[in-house]
Amino acid sequence: MTTRDTYGMIINGRKVTTDQVVEVINPADEAVFATVARANVATVDAAVEAARQAFPAWAATPYSERVATMRKIGDVLKDHADEVGRILTTEQGKVLAEAVAEVVHGSFLAQYLADNVTFDSVVLPSKTGRRLVEHRKPLGVVAAITPWNFPLTLLWIKILPALIAGNTVIVKPAATTPLATVRVVELLNELLPPGVLNVICDDNDLGGTLTSHPGVDKIAFTGSTATGSKVMASAAPTIKRITLELGGNDPAIVLEDVDVADAAGRVYAAATLCTGQVCLAAKRIFVPSTMYDEFCNELVRHAKAEVVGVGSDPATTMGPMQNAMQYEKTLGYLEDAHQSGTVIAGGAVIDGPGYFVAPTIVRDIPDSARLVREEQFCPVVPVLSYDDLDDVVARANDTEYGLGATIWGRDLDRAFDVAMRIESGMVWVNQHMDFDFGVTARGAKHSGIGGELGKEGYDAFTQAYVVDQTGW
Ligand code: NAD
Repeated sequence: MTTRDTYGMIINGRKVTTDQVVEVINPADEAVFATVARANVATVDAAVEAARQAFPAWAATPYSERVATMRKIGDVLKDHADEVGRILTTEQGKVLAEAVAEVVHGSFLAQYLADNVTFDSVVLPSKTGRRLVEHRKPLGVVAAITPWNFPLTLLWIKILPALIAGNTVIVKPAATTPLATVRVVELLNELLPPGVLNVICDDNDLGGTLTSHPGVDKIAFTGSTATGSKVMASAAPTIKRITLELGGNDPAIVLEDVDVADAAGRVYAAATLCTGQVCLAAKRIFVPSTMYDEFCNELVRHAKAEVVGVGSDPATTMGPMQNAMQYEKTLGYLEDAHQSGTVIAGGAVIDGPGYFVAPTIVRDIPDSARLVREEQFCPVVPVLSYDDLDDVVARANDTEYGLGATIWGRDLDRAFDVAMRIESGMVWVNQHMDFDFGVTARGAKHSGIGGELGKEGYDAFTQAYVVDQTGW
């Protein structure tokens, strides 16, 4: 953490405050440790105006200069990884190494974009011999709206491609995790012209004002499906471009040829990373009945070995829940776990200040239980048994979500075959959340629209124009 405890927003290159603040709580002790200036409608207008004013010059800046700026962004993020990581751990709760990794991720993506991504004009294949050329131009003002689980990782994949493509940006972080975002926007403003990158902070009340603003051209949003639906509606009147990365209820399907100890360790990690608060966490674990007892026992072993505590303590392996609302929701899932299934590890919150929950494994729970049907977003993990592969594929797909999935098996052909039958945007075999900056991540069904990263994700910050250059 830095020594100051009052953060301002950044608009048009300047620190902006209002007569109101949002208090930021450390989820490890529930104490307010900082405040951030709180935006009002006039602040949103000012941010949009600044971004609009800055857009023509930034869009006209030669691409090579934006690439050079991207390289400097990569260096600055690398140099400040520890400082920003500490801010992130304090506001988010996650273990420090994971918080620092979020900052470093931005440095890597900036470097990757500078080295690999262009928006060059392309001559399109024409069956009639015409010369059809597709050009790409930036869209204008991008609103980048992020949730509280990965405040920086999900920020980079929006703002860095948006900026290199020539757009200007207004960032709106989640109300409970604004500080690391404000700090990086401040740092990046030392490299960017005023108004190119702005940040406003709210008390979870101004997202709609921003997404319906006529001065915003594109919304890059990550959050819940319920909010994503509202974003779509508010974007409709002015036909804004939208990218939505939404909720998930990812199945992990274990096949009967796995090494139980090895697979259980990996599945446990996939379910409990970031205290289970991951869109792509394994949220329903399907295990063959022949190895169900053994697999459950292995999961229990991992849950009991977890050191739950303050994220900045090097001994900690699992931090607290991020906020009071999610903690309260978790109480409901714990109650459901006790009522609908058999709790074999954890099963309760941990006494004392801080939103701490004991990692919880639940077996013998029906697919109809709330814990299975809903996106629990907490370290309460339901383990379900199956006897028939077709049946388990149908159960895995029996959800409105389609974000991710994992398949675990030694016979890779069989595992790939199962993977092909899962209705999700991303399916990993024997690994979890291995991303490639060159590959688009996207959700199927109610888990999103459009995608981030990869050519599709980068091009989504541009408008394509086709010019018929055939001439006479
Ligand atoms: P949320 O939808 O409550 O909030 C996300 C952001 O939207 C916040 O900044 C919030 O202030 C803002 N917001 C709230 N109301 C808005 C409105 N009407 N218009 C515009 N913006 C508004 O989500 P959350 O609770 O912060 O995050 C958890 C959810 O995010 C989970 O469902 C999780 O699965 C999802 N998520 C998805 C991905 C992905 O890549 N698909 C990644 C991380 C999290």
